[in-house]
Amino acid sequence: LVSRKKKPENTLIQLGGVTIGGGKPVMIAGPCSVESYEQVRTVAKALKEAGMTVMRGGAFKPRTSPYDFQGLGIEGLKILKEVADEFGLKTISEIVDPAHIELACDYIDVIQIGARNMQNFELLKAAGDVRTPILLKRGLAATLDEFVHAAEYIVSRGNSQVMLIERGIRTYEKATRNTLDISAVPILKQETHLPVLVDVTHSTGRKDILAPCAKAALAAGADGVMVEVHPDPATALSDAAQQLNIPQFHDFYAEVQKSGLL
Ligand code: PEP
Ligand code: MN
Repeated sequence: LVSRKKKPENTLIQLGGVTIGGGKPVMIAGPCSVESYEQVRTVAKALKEAGMTVMRGGAFKPRTSPYDFQGLGIEGLKILKEVADEFGLKTISEIVDPAHIELACDYIDVIQIGARNMQNFELLKAAGDVRTPILLKRGLAATLDEFVHAAEYIVSRGNSQVMLIERGIRTYEKATRNTLDISAVPILKQETHLPVLVDVTHSTGRKDILAPCAKAALAAGADGVMVEVHPDPATALSDAAQQLNIPQFHDFYAEVQKSGLL
C-alpha cells in the first residue's frame, strides 16, 4: 500500500496550515524531553516567533539506561497540549505503549514511533487503528525494506497518514552518533508515496554539522527536517550534548533558510 507503484501521488499530511509532502519542506523543532511547563513554553514561544508551526517534545523516553530520566509520561503530553494551544502550534511526541495510542490522540497531533520501536508490531498495529498522523522513525539497524514494511503495518490497518524519518543508522563510524543515510531520502521518495523527513540531531549527535546535514537532506528531496532545541541544553534531562539552545537554533534556521531549500 505504501508503494509508489500502487499510488503515484504523494501522500499529504495536513497539520494546521502546513501540508507535509506537498513540495514545501517543514522544519520541526523542540526539546528532546518535555521537562516542565516553563521549559516547553520557552521553546514554543521561540518557535512561534520564528514563524514555525510544528513542535516536538518527548514525554515517554526510551532510554538506554533504566536509571536515566524516563520522561513525564501523560503529564508531559498535557504540558505539550497546554502550551501548543496557547501558541497555536501542532505537536509531535513519542508513544511507546500500544495502550497509550488512543489516549495520545487527545493530546498530540502526530504520534512518533521511535527508532527502538520501529519493529514493535503491536505498537504499529495500534498506530494503524487510529487516524492521527504517525511519524515513524527508522530503526537503529533497519534496512530500508524493513522500514517500509513497518510503515506498511500501519497503513494496512487503515491509517494512511504516515511519515517516514531517517534518523541515522549504526555503522562503524564514530565521528557521529549514528551515520546519516542521506541516500535513504531519494530511495524512500522513489519507492513510497509517503513524506520523508530527516532528523539531523539524532543522526549526527553533533551541533556543529546540523546545518550542512539539513541542507543535504533538503537537497536530496526531504519533506522536512527535525532538530532538537532546549532553552538550556547543559541542564537537559536527556541528550544534553546534542540539543541547540535558542540562539543557536535561530542561526541554524537562518542558515538553512538562506539555502533557499526550505
Ligand atoms: C527522539 O526523537 O526523541 C528519539 C528518542 O529518537 P530515536 O527514536 O530516533 O532515537
Ligand atoms: Mn533526543
